[in-house]
Amino acid sequence: MTPIDEEQLQGLKGLRNFLRVRTSYDVLPLSFRLIVLDNDLLIRKSLDILIQNGIVSAPLWDSHQSRFAGLLTATDYINLIQYYCQFPEHIDDVDKFRLSSLRDIEKAIGVLPLETVSVHPTKPLYEACSRMLKSRARRIPLVDIDHETERETVVSVITQYRILKFIAVNTEQHTALLKQTVREIGLGTYKNLATAKMMDSVLEVINLMVVHNISAVPIVDKNNVVLNVFEAVDVIPCIKGGVYEELKSTVGDALSRRPDDFQGIYTCQEDDRLDTIFTTLRQSRVHRLVVIDDNWHLKGMISLSDILKYVLFTGVSSDEGEYFPPP
Ligand code: ADP
Repeated sequence: MTPIDEEQLQGLKGLRNFLRVRTSYDVLPLSFRLIVLDNDLLIRKSLDILIQNGIVSAPLWDSHQSRFAGLLTATDYINLIQYYCQFPEHIDDVDKFRLSSLRDIEKAIGVLPLETVSVHPTKPLYEACSRMLKSRARRIPLVDIDHETERETVVSVITQYRILKFIAVNTEQHTALLKQTVREIGLGTYKNLATAKMMDSVLEVINLMVVHNISAVPIVDKNNVVLNVFEAVDVIPCIKGGVYEELKSTVGDALSRRPDDFQGIYTCQEDDRLDTIFTTLRQSRVHRLVVIDDNWHLKGMISLSDILKYVLFTGVSSDEGEYFPPP
């Protein structure tokens, strides 16, 4: 890795200052919809709702206590699949599970409960980012208190994707200074990459995601040439209608079930500069970058959290004042 140069540092400081003066509210569009699911809903039904609305996560609402009950994400369905694999004799119960059972499922399969972190929408964006990075959450709900009822209300959910898009669109003067390359700054993961083949089963790939704690597995051929990427959200259409048998089908079959508007996968090379990556983030719907060589051989993976971590924490000097919000 090359030491950070002065111009790059200026760019990063500019981005951090920007994140300190903007709030999560600023990231939200003027008008948006928010689909909140009742915690009493059957998990099976929640899948249909996500698919029908073209979304991959939703805040949960406990209507008995009138409070926010956490965020439903693809990881919850992966947990359910693990439960199904560990306790196949309970397959009939799986269909009857409600969203409120998700916490019991986590306990039964022995995974750590997903942290129900949230952030107030008027807090600096920097705080939302650092909370997400520390809890490894890819999205964070914005929770406010309704002054009339004194009860919690979920305003929206912001994702790492949306924050990076917001940075890329609004801070070109700073991102233009980030001229060091992916190789120079060591951005992403290059060792012990988890990969799969088109003929592997969906279940095998899900296990890889669980074991490595990652949200995407590149699909390569026998020469390590990248063919596609299987993402955690690709699990959702696979178990639609409660057909868990489909998990035994191949990755190739599962990828063919992607929605028509699927944006494709994005690649970069180790000699690409960070400013070019921000240009790609600005122009396209990028959820991760697969690092390849000239012949499409897999070299590494760059996740949005890798980029955000680099922006927030690299070369922080004492005069900038590290900002760690209270939990
Ligand atoms: P995010 O947390 O942004 O959703 P991931 O879960 O995909 O991203 O990645 C978490 C970490 O694991 C990142 O540091 C990323 O570089 C690394 N990573 C991503 N995909 C793989 C993979 N297939 N094999 C090994 N490491 C990976």
